[in-house]
Amino acid sequence: MASASADSPAPAREESPAPETLDKKDILYNKCAQAPDGTVFYQRDFVNMHVAENTTALMRLLQELVDSHLMKTMMWENQPCWKLRSRDEAAKLRAINADERHIYHLIDEVQNAGIWIRALRQRTGLTQMVLTKCLKSLETKALIQCVMNVKNPSRKMYLLKHLEPSAEIVGGPWQTDGDYDIGLIEVISNVVVRYVEHETWIRVPVGMNNTREAAVAKKKAQVQATRDIEDAPAVQPFRPPLNRNRTTLLPRSNVNLPTCTSILQHVLDIGIIKGKVIRESDMEQLLEMMVLDGRLEKITPSTYRTVRDAKDADDDTEGSWNGFVDAPCGTCPVFELCGDEGDITARTCVYFAEWLGTE
Ligand code: SF4
Repeated sequence: MASASADSPAPAREESPAPETLDKKDILYNKCAQAPDGTVFYQRDFVNMHVAENTTALMRLLQELVDSHLMKTMMWENQPCWKLRSRDEAAKLRAINADERHIYHLIDEVQNAGIWIRALRQRTGLTQMVLTKCLKSLETKALIQCVMNVKNPSRKMYLLKHLEPSAEIVGGPWQTDGDYDIGLIEVISNVVVRYVEHETWIRVPVGMNNTREAAVAKKKAQVQATRDIEDAPAVQPFRPPLNRNRTTLLPRSNVNLPTCTSILQHVLDIGIIKGKVIRESDMEQLLEMMVLDGRLEKITPSTYRTVRDAKDADDDTEGSWNGFVDAPCGTCPVFELCGDEGDITARTCVYFAEWLGTE
């Protein structure tokens, strides 16, 4: 037995006949009805049900089920196979005329891709008036539905009543009535950003490692390792954070970067989307859009992380300083007299030493 795709669920089934009135056809039908909706049956599956005594009897039972529209015959890789119809649907199909049934079968063939009314006219050879009447009758009997094609709104597409139209027809989960659903996209994008940020970054207080002791120790080590003071790098003095409640983002260590699959799973787990089916390809489309918007960064072909905004980047460098402005030499009255040799040099200057933190 093979399970059909999830986008073509079988419609609800009506009650089967009472057990005492069951013939072999009903027994076979009921056994098939126990399988999940949309299951495709092959001859070997029917043989394993042990309802018919031999192949000839089995084929006769199957033909009876097909004739009464309880099953439909299909071909898969040059092998005949069968799919169950609900008793309701079969009863409706028995009640319609030959033209309507022909149209129904053509619409059934294309499944959720839908068929254009002009294609139906070409394939059936019916006049526009007869075709329109048949389609109306099938719609009234709740066997088919008419949907608008978002790419060609003037094209009327028809598909079976119980099927969800394909993304090509209705535009996928990010579109409503042919237009992008900005509200939905914004909400889901925010959820994605929060999740990816949580997985890739860690939020810490600003200046967490910026202590006076750390700055002095670092500078001392640098000065002691430098033979000529002029080769010494500028020191970064301690600057306490202006707002101790502010936080910034730092990359997580040993991070498992989120993938399209894990992001989609998170969105589905929190149950924020109702009444729409989101596939991995739909989520990929949204993630690509977010990369272009600069909200996500693609680290590898399949992994993402959020982009740190300018505020976080600034926070991370809070306390950084410009040595040209901060050094005492900038306002020194004897700057012109200070040199490598003589009475006034950086080696003997107390202001410079104090600024370095070596005094
Ligand atoms: S005397 Fe000291 S502060 Fe003035 S320029 Fe020289 S090193 Fe800089």
